Amino acid sequence: MLDCIIIGSGAAGVSAALTLRANGKSFMLFGSAALSEKISKAERIRNYMGLPNISGEDFCKAVQAQLVEAEITITQEKVSGVYALGDKFGVATQEGGYYESASVILGCGVESVKQIEGETEFVGRGVSYCATCDGFLYKGKTIAVLCTSKRLEHEIGHLCSFADKVYLIAMYKDVEMGDEKVEIIRKMPLKLEGEKRVDKVVFADKTLPVDGVFVLRESVAPTVLVGGLRVENGHIVTTRNMQTNIEGCFAAGDCTGRPYQYAKAAGEGNIAAHAVCAYLSEQKKKA
Ligand SMILES: Cc1cc2nc3c(=O)[nH]c(=O)nc-3n(C[C@H](O)[C@H](O)[C@H](O)COP(=O)(O)OP(=O)(O)OC[C@H]3O[C@@H](n4cnc5c(N)ncnc54)[C@H](O)[C@@H]3O)c2cc1C
Repeated sequence: MLDCIIIGSGAAGVSAALTLRANGKSFMLFGSAALSEKISKAERIRNYMGLPNISGEDFCKAVQAQLVEAEITITQEKVSGVYALGDKFGVATQEGGYYESASVILGCGVESVKQIEGETEFVGRGVSYCATCDGFLYKGKTIAVLCTSKRLEHEIGHLCSFADKVYLIAMYKDVEMGDEKVEIIRKMPLKLEGEKRVDKVVFADKTLPVDGVFVLRESVAPTVLVGGLRVENGHIVTTRNMQTNIEGCFAAGDCTGRPYQYAKAAGEGNIAAHAVCAYLSEQKKKA
């Protein structure tokens, strides 16, 4: 079994991975080969030690080279669930993967697009975060897809192979969905409504009847990812050593709170990795 699974390839996750590598631990790092849009899209970074006035793109390249040097690969799968199973964790991905580890570090960042009213209420009752898991349930149906990143467009393509009509609420520029089933909407909905299941997406000027709603964001809300995780004001609550309320589950970076900065994320990733090493030693003593 792996010592640790790290979720997120931003500053927090990468820093944790480098520290675990330096400590000889086995781990998987989940995220994107492009690391994080919050790195690549930064125009100029002026507050990171040793790299004055670097572009986000060059910062990204430097980190990618460092990962190659350290022989760390990124598993490009989106984690859909983390399950505490006594002395280990099960980690499931939207691509159908399942992995186990003795500990977990959540470095999944925060999504700048807020949740829509009704979203949480209808999770599992017509609201889904996973196109590949739930798309087939909407064969011949009408769905709305709220998508925050161009990188997730392939998931909309997957949904188009099942649904008859797709309202794409696009929260990004340069939409490239040529499918005739897709109607692009450029406004944020006010709320989701329904009785037992979601059946309406309500905008300021219109209401769309739907059979389901897919919310495609770069990151999944922490409470959706890990059942029972303690969150306050949208941030994961941790101790000084980045331990969450779930034993063996640590968190680092933007997902634990402000300030949203690379240095803070990298620092917390480092602390979380050291805490994982200490946790693994304790577990070994107990066994
Ligand atoms: C445009 C812009 C410019 C910025 N400029 C600066 C700056 O100049 N200086 C500064 O200090 N800070 C800056 N920031 C803030 C900085 O980007 C963040 O604080 C930092 O990226 C946080 O790192 P993180 O690792 O916590 O999260 P993120 O960088 O958000 O990384 C999270 C990663 O986790 C992945 N992920 C999420 N959920 C899952 C999942 N379920 N499965 C697999 N992977 C998942 C995401 O795809 C992403 O790759 C800027 C932010 C933006 C948006």
